[in-house]
Amino acid sequence: MSEPNYDLHTHSTASDGTLTPTELVARAVAAGITVLALTDHDTTAGVIEATTAAQMHGITLIPGVEISVTWNSRTVHIVGLQIDINQPLLQDGLTELRTFRAWRAKEIGHRLAKHGIADAYEGAREFSNGTLIGRTHFARLLVKRGLAVDTSEVFKRFLVQGKPGHVAGQWATLQTAVEWIRAAGGQAVIAHPARYRLTRTQLFKLIGEFREHGGAGIEVVTSTHSRDDVLNFALHARTQQLLASAGSDFHGTEHAWLQLGRLPPLPNNCTPIWQTWPFADTASSSVAPERLNTKS
Ligand code: AMP
Ligand code: MN
Ligand code: MN
Ligand code: MN
Repeated sequence: MSEPNYDLHTHSTASDGTLTPTELVARAVAAGITVLALTDHDTTAGVIEATTAAQMHGITLIPGVEISVTWNSRTVHIVGLQIDINQPLLQDGLTELRTFRAWRAKEIGHRLAKHGIADAYEGAREFSNGTLIGRTHFARLLVKRGLAVDTSEVFKRFLVQGKPGHVAGQWATLQTAVEWIRAAGGQAVIAHPARYRLTRTQLFKLIGEFREHGGAGIEVVTSTHSRDDVLNFALHARTQQLLASAGSDFHGTEHAWLQLGRLPPLPNNCTPIWQTWPFADTASSSVAPERLNTKS
């Protein structure tokens, strides 16, 4: 059998991805991925459909989620992997976050209306599955209306702090997000750490608190990481005893540069999070299994 190919961070139409869970799995299979985690924002609504599709294709689907967290006045994303999606504490927490999202979506609509952009809530809703509306859905709408050339321009001009459609709010705390994931039997992972633009001191603080709460891993490899980011976060993982994860953060085909199945390998000096999983192919992995329990 050939080497497993992991992608542990992806989105579907259950949140702000553009492919249904079934379409996402088919695309992952075509790209050679054999172990795929579906990690939609604040929802696990796509996991059952993705699991069925993965079974049909003979690949492994890891039930996951990406939880929105407010930490030190900034938004940080915590991915949960290997979660039991029926765990009530987790689901109650996610429901609360989606309630805030629903209110925020209407509020974004009001604020854009004051800025001369009418019916944005209704428009964004049509870009979503109707149950979870995120900023990305507003971004796609405004691109379609010709107000910006791409979604990242919409974010910059309308949706980030200081801009007309920005709505501040409180997501989960770091501690509760990690607790929900652990209650559901999962492993918590700091998503795309380079995106937060933290100073070294802030990063050490984040990782320190995350570990105190029982966090397990950090994304070392992800699409928005440069080569230097990968090496830097591999070193953080190694020296701060975190497992290393790898996930594209694929949202669909709108970013031509972001394709499934193209992630670089994890550097040899860190321990892949999948080494702690029962089906892991330890024989073919780069780090000896005895490293797993080493706190050095
Ligand atoms: P939300 O959780 O609804 O506030 O939206 C966060 C999502 O918006 C992220 O997961 C990305 O998919 C997307 N996003 C955030 N910042 C940008 C950006 N600058 N350009 C494009 N998409 C972005
Ligand atoms: Mn997103
Ligand atoms: Mn994210
Ligand atoms: Mn994501």
